[in-house]
Amino acid sequence: TKKQSLFPSLIIPEIIHMIEKKAAVNGIQIVREIAADTPAFVGDASQFQQVMLNLFNNAMDAIADRHGVSGGRLTIESFKNIEDMLEITITDNGAGIRPENIEKIFSPFFTTKPVGKGTGLGLSVCYGIIEGFGGSMKVRSELDIGTTFIITLPIKDV
Ligand code: ADP
Ligand code: MG
Repeated sequence: TKKQSLFPSLIIPEIIHMIEKKAAVNGIQIVREIAADTPAFVGDASQFQQVMLNLFNNAMDAIADRHGVSGGRLTIESFKNIEDMLEITITDNGAGIRPENIEKIFSPFFTTKPVGKGTGLGLSVCYGIIEGFGGSMKVRSELDIGTTFIITLPIKDV
């Protein structure tokens, strides 16, 4: 893999662009909150893209489960947090995750989707990629409210 400096303010809009049509068709509003002073991080661009697309697709599935094709919202934030880390959050107002499943979702092959729709590999791949960038991934979720995935990454030294 090819490590390079990645700028969330450039790369996140590019990735959002790839899902804009699918989101619009499904009545999902996309909200971006990318702070102007969002710092760069080091990683492989196509791996980062894979992480974000996995999270967006999961979010869109969860929104479809709760809302059908109107009323969905997907929010992407990035900023420097109080611990001087880059934080990227992906929030949906979808169906949420059952408390008993929260600990399982990052495990390979864990899925609640019908056979043929989910492999259960997406989040375990995301987790491994973010770890490989020296970062970490967490989740917060409430049933019938929504879910937030929180990615924390070291800031690139200048
Ligand atoms: P898959 O999408 O193939 O099921 P993932 O590893 O991407 O596999 O996700 C595992 C499981 O985590 C999903 O089946 C779903 O139950 C849960 N999940 C992941 N993202 C979300 C989300 N945004 N909202 C609700 N549930 C989610
Ligand atoms: Mg998935």
